[in-house]
Amino acid sequence: MGVLDGKVAIVTGASRGIGAAIARRFAAEGATVAVTARTVDPARTRLPGTINETVAHIEAAGGRARAYAADLSDPAARVSLVRAVTDDLGPADVLVNNAAVTYFTPVADFTDRRYALMLEVQVTAPFHLTRLVLPEMRARGRGWILNISSLASRHPALERNHLPGGTVYGMCKAALERFTTGLAAEVHGDGIAVNSLAPNRVVPTPGTLFHGLTTEDDPNAEPPEVMADAALALCGGTDLSGRVALSQDLLTELAER
Ligand code: NAP
Repeated sequence: MGVLDGKVAIVTGASRGIGAAIARRFAAEGATVAVTARTVDPARTRLPGTINETVAHIEAAGGRARAYAADLSDPAARVSLVRAVTDDLGPADVLVNNAAVTYFTPVADFTDRRYALMLEVQVTAPFHLTRLVLPEMRARGRGWILNISSLASRHPALERNHLPGGTVYGMCKAALERFTTGLAAEVHGDGIAVNSLAPNRVVPTPGTLFHGLTTEDDPNAEPPEVMADAALALCGGTDLSGRVALSQDLLTELAER
């Protein structure tokens, strides 16, 4: 028996990195996973990872998953995604808002287009997808929504900006965390858990490697599987809600219970 047996989970940004690790972990616990992101064709991306590869990995391990190509910067694609998943697999029990596009650029140099895209993918899409799955969750009296955040939401010191160019990224994640706690309070009593989760340390992924934030062999990095374990702890069986959690801290806390 898996924690997520019989459950349908939508995991965004699951073509690579943390999203792919969460999708694999959830499938191993019995969920049927809707693996979504934009990349289908490996020849058309600079970064490794496609939704079909994540699905193939899950199926090879005996799990169930289906790929859904969607550009989450497009509101119509978000509606189509949830409609297709509901038609194919049933209503979502779990939604993991993990997808992100990030530019590390000082405020003075940010372009309007990039600013709008980051806010759309990192804040508006999670808000919209949540609103799309919420009615079914409410009707069935159960659901888990997990927003993937970052320590970048925390305020930098004047003298030592810990993440140069990370102001807009921090804005997005701060908004996501406040959305998390606000929604958790709104749906408290409806059987729906809403949490956010960030890694304690940088996780080597195609995204962070591309940005030069870490290396494959960084001894201080956190493996993606730690985030996957922590994500599982916040989805499927937990009564925790309204948490703005850090992966390793959460796992330590739960192990000590
Ligand atoms: P990543 O390797 O850059 O992967 C990002 C994912 O988002 C990809 O699957 C990408 O897929 C998807 N995505 C980007 N734009 C999209 C769009 N317009 N529509 C649909 N999907 C889109 O990132 P990661 O490092 O795994 O990070 C995952 C999450 O963890 C993010 O929310 C990030 O902010 C957070 N986080 C990561 C770290 C870390 O150290 N890695 C630390 C703190 C927080 P396609 O390109 O195929 O669309």
